[in-house]
Amino acid sequence: MAYIIDGKQISQDIKNELREKVTQFKENGKNIALAVVQIGNDPASSVYVNNKKKACEFVGIRSVAYELPEETQQDELLKLIDDLNADHSIHGILVQLPLPKHMNENAIINRISPLKDVDGFHPQNVGALCIGQPGFVSCTPAGIIQLLKRSDIEIAGKECVIIGRSNIVGKPMSLLLLAENATVTIAHSKTENLMEVCKRADILIAAVGRPKMFTKEYVKEGAVVIDVGIHRLESGKLCGDVDYDDVLSICSAITPVPGGVGPMTIAMLMNNCVESLKLQHME
Ligand code: NDP
Repeated sequence: MAYIIDGKQISQDIKNELREKVTQFKENGKNIALAVVQIGNDPASSVYVNNKKKACEFVGIRSVAYELPEETQQDELLKLIDDLNADHSIHGILVQLPLPKHMNENAIINRISPLKDVDGFHPQNVGALCIGQPGFVSCTPAGIIQLLKRSDIEIAGKECVIIGRSNIVGKPMSLLLLAENATVTIAHSKTENLMEVCKRADILIAAVGRPKMFTKEYVKEGAVVIDVGIHRLESGKLCGDVDYDDVLSICSAITPVPGGVGPMTIAMLMNNCVESLKLQHME
């Protein structure tokens, strides 16, 4: 029977640990604050933003909300980012994506100070990850490394196949696994013989955004399966990129959806906020 990797519990453990650290910081007069900027009121974004605020409250981080209307101009947002960059009482800046179509996502991400970029999306942080220097790491892949480590799953020397090469999941995931001494393959929509490539994996990480695409035909017997995808079916139930019920009989461990990778993303955001104190004092 496959081991079910409990992301909910592991994320709670991490938040408990962070809460203790933050309490100690507060005792030494150091308070952490995260600015959360949302443009428009996309319902999915509002859910994510609320969950982030709740996590901040639990951990003891002050969250400062900026809710701007959909028609906000890019210059206004850039000005707000400049102000937050200069504000010493703010340690992390999070601009909830996706942005309205009239804004250039890269221009916004690039304007956030790399020292406050708790999402880990700024090119300087991506570059630092690439060459193994300190910086913020994208939360979802960082959370997956924690899931593996805290479940005592060996990474070093293993064949890891990631399907998906996005800037926020697939690419940073590959760099983190490489840093853990895995042998890494990144597959994508142009990969030939995808099934064969996936079947090589000791650790298979699915991040394509296609509901239940990965059936047991893609999975080597005994592999560890990490499902990043998240989709709401017509029935209202959530599912991932992996056909969970089908794969369960063949893998050795698997993350469920919900309750796998999802909760880890917010836990690692909290971790990055705590790390921001350290990074900002390295200069
Ligand atoms: P993107 O859409 O940015 O990237 C998807 C990737 O999958 C691309 O690299 C694409 O290839 C590849 N792909 C798409 N279809 C296929 C296919 N048929 N065969 C092989 N590769 C394919 O997605 P994200 O990385 O942003 O997200 C992936 C999934 O993870 C989504 O379901 C998203 O909702 C979820 N997600 C969950 C998070 C969480 O906290 N749980 C956080 C972030 C994302 P190509 O580059 O060639 O187009």
